[in-house]
Amino acid sequence: MKIAAIIMDIEGTTTGIGFVQNVLYPYSLKYIAPFLREHHEERDVMRVLVRLSEHTGIPLHNVEGLIRLLQQWIRDDEKNPELKTLQGMIWEKGYKQGLFLAHVYPDVPDVLQRWQQEERNLYVFSYGSVKAQQLFLRYSDSGDMRLLFSGYFDSAMGSRQDSATYRSIAAAIALPANNILFISDDRQELDAAAEAGMRTTWVIRPQDTSLDPERARLKTAHSVVTSFDQIHID
Ligand SMILES: [Mg+2]
Repeated sequence: MKIAAIIMDIEGTTTGIGFVQNVLYPYSLKYIAPFLREHHEERDVMRVLVRLSEHTGIPLHNVEGLIRLLQQWIRDDEKNPELKTLQGMIWEKGYKQGLFLAHVYPDVPDVLQRWQQEERNLYVFSYGSVKAQQLFLRYSDSGDMRLLFSGYFDSAMGSRQDSATYRSIAAAIALPANNILFISDDRQELDAAAEAGMRTTWVIRPQDTSLDPERARLKTAHSVVTSFDQIHID
């Protein structure tokens, strides 16, 4: 069955976990307070704060209370969509000022280019908001990679560990699940995608995990690789 679309995770898959944990998260933790104090009355920011206030019961005018909650969520790596949206706005400033570039493993760009030449559509599915994903690809240390991708999915699609989410994504890109390859470093995500009928590849980056790829290979039906150039499709 021809693989017509390839969906990939970012953190731990195309990108070192260290970049997200040591660069992006600390940056958003440091700047979320000054960012909200300065911008909380702007429409895009206000819209997010209204939803956050509704969900948490913290009054909208209590900006400092909202800030404290968001700081705690960043420390806890909470997968909250409002937090993700605000982090995207904060990271945009950092990227635009040239303070950092998104890390991409060196084996990734050439393989993505080849897949694109083979007329396979590429998509991102990650915890970061769609906006954060686009910033990430635009300001990557391998240059602007946005033209390689046909679309982006974030947690608005549903839980990453739920097979229904992967069925929704297959429906959104109008392909049968068995024409789609899903690539991730997370075993539960791969199990859910496989349950939805997708082909799966488990990326085990020695830089990011102590898992032994050889042992993992024995214990799973997912295809296991340690870099993108080991992925063979069709
Ligand atoms: Mg991951």
